[in-house]
Amino acid sequence: MSTTLTRDHRINTAIDGVKLHTTLPLYFWLYPKPSYTLAADVHIEGGGNARVKSDVPFSEATEADVAAMLAKVRLIPCKVCGTKTFDPATVETNRDGKCEKCFLAELDASLKAHQAKQAERDAKKDRQMRKKGFTHKVVAWVHPAAGDDYQIVAYFGLEPTEAEIKGLIKGKRGAQLGQYAVTKLPSESEK
Ligand SMILES: [Zn+2]
Repeated sequence: MSTTLTRDHRINTAIDGVKLHTTLPLYFWLYPKPSYTLAADVHIEGGGNARVKSDVPFSEATEADVAAMLAKVRLIPCKVCGTKTFDPATVETNRDGKCEKCFLAELDASLKAHQAKQAERDAKKDRQMRKKGFTHKVVAWVHPAAGDDYQIVAYFGLEPTEAEIKGLIKGKRGAQLGQYAVTKLPSESEK
């Protein structure tokens, strides 16, 4: 038996008045493998995506199997705001019972907190270096011969010359200096 499902199979359903749009993942057709079992991607109108899975081999799956799989999806009120969202017990999701909006808001908040902590650490280091007599800081991007770009930080006792800044990548074979910024460290009296 072979599947009757097609890649443009679309299912529109609703739970408690919340509209759900379901599609089948394209990998079934792009990278076909005999070991695949049926799965679908469910999208909540207004935000939120999750994958549902079944044990039915994809090669034998029918529309009825898709419908049976979708019938197991449940919605719960978002932990934070109460908006209907996926019950994590019924779908594959990392949203942990939070709606898309609240999940992203928390992600953004934790990113901002992380950045603030990093800025605090940088400022502390700058103050320490200023006390040691350094007056300028260079933050530069390095494009290495292989691998990802990375940042280097260097402190100078005088405003660095271009040659000195270029010298920061001396010894890093094949590396190129990318964008850099020179800042003057504030002295104690300037703060
Ligand atoms: Zn929410």
